[in-house]
Amino acid sequence: MTTPALFSKYPDLSLLATAVYEDVFEIIKSISFPGNKSRHIIAMAKMVMERFNGAIPMTVDELVQLPGVGRKTANVITSVVDNQPNMAVDTHVFRVSARIGLTIKAKNPFETELQLIKYVPREHVPKFHHWLILHGRYVCVARKPKCSECGLQPACLYFQKVMRTEYGL
Ligand code: SF4
Repeated sequence: MTTPALFSKYPDLSLLATAVYEDVFEIIKSISFPGNKSRHIIAMAKMVMERFNGAIPMTVDELVQLPGVGRKTANVITSVVDNQPNMAVDTHVFRVSARIGLTIKAKNPFETELQLIKYVPREHVPKFHHWLILHGRYVCVARKPKCSECGLQPACLYFQKVMRTEYGL
């Protein structure tokens, strides 16, 4: 909801690179952490102009050099924009993968990413991230997963464990 106004005032990166913090803040103040994001957006635009000749880089290693861009964001950009087999791990992907048993004892998002890309076919990786997010958002929700509505019951380690402990099945 905030990007139309942002893109309308700064239609390209060279303009955004010269933006004033207070102006960007005013446009994006309704989103979370507007202060940090305003600073990062301007610094990111500056770095893209100076280090990458004005073009957004399209590798994870380059993207994570940009202010405000972490590994998850870099994986999202390269997989969604360029269909690269990079797995972005957010809170849903982390939780759902562990519950189902797609990952074993992953301690952080990076370990989850490494375990998932080992087994998910490369051509499915960009979509797999969205499948897990949607499943986590609407079915395998954080507090009380809706197992009775879930088509993954036969394949899910969590479900098998609950059925064994609660019903002795
Ligand atoms: S069976 Fe339950 S725990 Fe397993 S994936 Fe489905 S909703 Fe999640």
